[in-house]
Amino acid sequence: MIKEAAPTSKIHRHSLINGMRYLFSVLALFYLTLLGCQNSSFRLEEWAAPNSQNSKVKVLCTTPIIDDLVSRIGGERIDSLSLMDRTIDPHSYELVKGDDEKFLVAKIVFYNGLGLEHTASLRGKLETHPHAMALGDAIRSQNASFILQNNGQVDPHIWLDVSLWEKAVDPVVAMLSSIDPEGTDYYATQGLQVKKELLKLDAWMEEKLQSIPSEKRYLVTSHDAFNYFARRYLHHENAWKDRFCAPEGLAPDGQISFQDLQRVLDYLQKNQVSILFSEANVSHDSLRKIVDICRLKGMSVQMAPRSLCSDTLADTDAKSLTYEEMMKYNTSLLCEAWKTE
Ligand SMILES: [Zn+2]
Repeated sequence: MIKEAAPTSKIHRHSLINGMRYLFSVLALFYLTLLGCQNSSFRLEEWAAPNSQNSKVKVLCTTPIIDDLVSRIGGERIDSLSLMDRTIDPHSYELVKGDDEKFLVAKIVFYNGLGLEHTASLRGKLETHPHAMALGDAIRSQNASFILQNNGQVDPHIWLDVSLWEKAVDPVVAMLSSIDPEGTDYYATQGLQVKKELLKLDAWMEEKLQSIPSEKRYLVTSHDAFNYFARRYLHHENAWKDRFCAPEGLAPDGQISFQDLQRVLDYLQKNQVSILFSEANVSHDSLRKIVDICRLKGMSVQMAPRSLCSDTLADTDAKSLTYEEMMKYNTSLLCEAWKTE
């Protein structure tokens, strides 16, 4: 018996339904892909792709400054990502959508420590990751006197002394080698090269800054970021503490009390300072206030034409800098301003 063929209209209806189902699936897939793109950056997808042919060690660094150092040491064997953007103030960083995934994918996490990453959400992630290293703690374990305290608080701004930052290289090499033993020789060679470059940069900065007459080397910025910098580059017979003053504390908050104001005014008068340096990632309000009050008092004080880079790898115009470029930029800005003061 010949099976009766389905009526043409029925076949068309089935085809139409199947076609619509297919179209709906394609549209749904496209929509989900779009959602995925919105929820995480392209860089993260590339970094975290599970089927990636890329067998490099996934490394997460909290700040771009740490990422710069670790990338140079890890070179072609690692894929390093910075949690924070180049322009973000690292003191107040709170986790955002997509950050959990970064911590899950990362084989190693490097962070500054010493209280820099102090928000509860971020601290929780750092304290529970199985392979997280605080570079500040690693430096302190070499010699406790390397680390400074300010009004009872540990100062986290270790990167602003290049000779101190160089002491983070060996701990980074050790951590990378422990997770990727096949790369041990490679990391050791890279580490030696990076140390050489950092010490060269440190010597260049010391020479430049020490060429400025001692009576001009008094630095005033927005927040207490430059203590390590002052100790290393602005010292004079160990009296480095007198070389630096800022109205705001270790973490910038845009607030200035009457006592802070008076302390800075006294410092300006005592050391005959006439130029103040704002910072690219910090509000300029407190320094502007000081300049206004100085003018009312008949003191000749002004802001430097450009801002220093303290906690970020981006200058006033948000232009990206490497760590070396940032330190050279700061050095040149200070030298030029102090020479023409
Ligand atoms: Zn800071």
